[in-house]
This record gives sequence, structure tokens and C-alpha cells, in this order.
Amino acid sequence: MKRTTTLLLSLLLLTTTLSAQPKVIAHRGYWRAEGSAQNSIKSFVAAAELGCWGSEFDVWLTADDQLILYHDDSLGGERVEKLNYTDLADYRLSNGEPLPLLVDFLRVAQQYPDIQLVFELKGHHNREREMLAVKLAVDMIEQMGLAHRTDYISFSHAACKEFIRLAPQNKVFYLRGELTAGQLLDEGFAGADYHGGIYVGNPKFVDELHKRGLEANIWTINDPSDQRRAIALGVDYITTDYPELLVK
Ligand code: MG
Repeated sequence: MKRTTTLLLSLLLLTTTLSAQPKVIAHRGYWRAEGSAQNSIKSFVAAAELGCWGSEFDVWLTADDQLILYHDDSLGGERVEKLNYTDLADYRLSNGEPLPLLVDFLRVAQQYPDIQLVFELKGHHNREREMLAVKLAVDMIEQMGLAHRTDYISFSHAACKEFIRLAPQNKVFYLRGELTAGQLLDEGFAGADYHGGIYVGNPKFVDELHKRGLEANIWTINDPSDQRRAIALGVDYITTDYPELLVK
């Protein structure tokens, strides 16, 4: 009897290991944790403590050449890329944190070595500034010894191509969704990080990626039934505001 139980348990364990479990990425950190806020340092720490595989965050380059964490295009009615960080000194996130400088955020990330950084560069209107943002970002990530733990993502095709050029050892995923699996491969992407609707609209897309050795990340999958559907699609990563539902 005991032997049968052990055998059954082993089989169960084997089945669980064999069925692909997507890696869980906290979208803008685990910002729903107590005392947290989107793109805050606290949200990153909360994602790490929850046991997420990765934590996603959004980065802008300000007019005075500071890389900062922030999601929206504008702040106080002005585009973030036109603001000086020095003028934002009094700005507070909803949890009371100052607007994080990327360098301060990465110093904290160095203390949590088990979580992957999913670095989204926001699409800047000024192409030259965007290219500078990529260069500054790659340099900072490399100088701080975090390159082996960083994936780059962007809606900006130009920014992605620059990441691929400057950081060929890193994985780069495209967010916007119009490139085919073949185009992603040709351009040197690691895979797609596309909206859920694209995967649902083309159920063969995950296979098309995998056939080419590319990976599939899906966003932003919050509802438990959508999370189950994403797992059934065979994606490699799920980006979610509700990582606690997936991380067990
Ligand atoms: Mg983002």
C-alpha cells in the first residue's frame, strides 16, 4: 500500500514537472502588495519575496538624462521625456516613495539575486533620446553586474533593434504585436511579449514561435480563467497584476 502511494506520488511529481509551467512575471512589480505602488522599489521587493520569476518595470529618460521608473507618457500634463528629474523631487508615488531613479532601483535589485529584471523602455517621441536611453540603460545594467538577469522589452521597434545591437547577449522581446514569428527571428528577438488577444486570435502562434526556438510571453493576464487558458496555450511566461494566483 505504502509502495503504491509512493509510486503514485512519484508519477504525480513527474507529470507536474513535465507539463510546462509558465514563468510568472509581476507586471510593474507586485504593486498590489500592502504598502506598494506600481513601479516602486517596494513592488519589486514584494515580487521577489512572493517568489515571482521576474518583475517588470517601465523606464523613461528625462530631459536631464536620468533614467527613472514611471509608466505613463505624461506627468502633470507634460511628457515625461521633457521633464527634468530635478523638478520631480517632490513627486511621490501612491505609497509615499519618491519617483525611483533606475540606479537606486537596481541597487536594490542587486540584493535580490533570484529574480529576473524585465526592463521595459517606454517609447520616446524623440528618436535620438530613445537611442541614448537604450545606451545608458545597457551600460548601467552591465556596470551593475545585472546583465545576466535582465530581459529587455519595448513597444518601440527602434528601441528593440538598438537593444539587440548593443546587448546581443540579452533576450529582447517585442510588445506591439505586428511582427510575425519569422520576422522576430530574422531581427534577432528572443520572442514575442504580446497582448493576450493576439495569442487567442492565432492559436498556432505559440507553436510558430517555438518551432523557431523563440519564446512566448503574454500580457496582462489577471483573471484566473484567462491564466488557465494562457497555460493551456503553452506560453513560456505570463505577465500579470495578480502573480500571487500563479506563484504557489
Ligand atoms: Mg510595462
